[in-house]
Amino acid sequence: MHVLILGGTTEARRLAELLAAERLPGLRVTNSLAGRVSAPRTPPGELRVGGFGGVEGLAAWLREHTVDLLVDATHPFAGTIGFNAADAAATARVPLLALRRPGWRPVEGDRWHEAGSLTEAAAVLPALGRRVFLTTGRLGLAAFAGLSGPWFLVRTVEAPGEPRPPRMEVLLDRGPFTVGGERELLRRHRIDVLVTKDSGGAATAPKLTAAREAGLPVVVVRRPPVPGGVPVVAEPGQAAGWVREAHARRLPPDQVPLTPPRRRSR
Ligand code: NAP
Repeated sequence: MHVLILGGTTEARRLAELLAAERLPGLRVTNSLAGRVSAPRTPPGELRVGGFGGVEGLAAWLREHTVDLLVDATHPFAGTIGFNAADAAATARVPLLALRRPGWRPVEGDRWHEAGSLTEAAAVLPALGRRVFLTTGRLGLAAFAGLSGPWFLVRTVEAPGEPRPPRMEVLLDRGPFTVGGERELLRRHRIDVLVTKDSGGAATAPKLTAAREAGLPVVVVRRPPVPGGVPVVAEPGQAAGWVREAHARRLPPDQVPLTPPRRRSR
């Protein structure tokens, strides 16, 4: 049985680790990364890197490599690959499960301003603060390039290119982060507003706690839509259970149940 995990997330790596630990006889796991990060943390199993070439390319890859199960464990803000996976899985008749960590929810004391896109976030920003902690990633930096008033502390995994805001400092780092570290960062740089995507997960959540403690406004960019009709689970363990179930039953791929243990409602 061959499982393809579309990855680039902590959860994808965790799923690969869980499957490796189970040592299911005859189970082959391939992890797929887009290749955006030069030194990615590599999961156990086989690894392939780079785009497939759209829906057709992915469907062809599934067929050529006799993939039996597909898990889309990509980031909630990877807006294209999830839809490609849904279309390609339908074309190649491969059962598909989406693994998506739940979004964050505001708690008492939070001063959140929701934005539908990075462009919307940039539009509301000048009214909220002058010293911005921007954590939305290097590829979306162009949306803030027209803002010459605020100063930005831009935290990214890889160095960002152009276009970029004229007044900014880059901090190269990658999670997990701690509340203590985030608190200190906000203090040292006299940050008065935070901008984040609703990425969810524990690794990057401490900045929200630190902002709440400091009474800072937070611009939260909402997630793009997920493809309809694809079963979704929130935990790597649930996705591992789906694979285990299919493996144990030794059913032909087209008879693997598409209903996961729990379905997340959005
Ligand atoms: P995207 O807009 O959904 O994807 C753009 C293209 O990149 C896809 O059409 C596909 O190319 C290729 N691609 C994406 N994920 C892939 C994967 N796992 N394996 C092989 N090809 C992949 O995604 P993105 O926002 O550029 O993100 C790229 C990757 O970084 C994703 O895998 C995601 O999990 C990870 N990531 C993204 C974010 C974020 O905020 N967007 C944050 C953390 C990690 P083809 O059409 O040629 O197949």
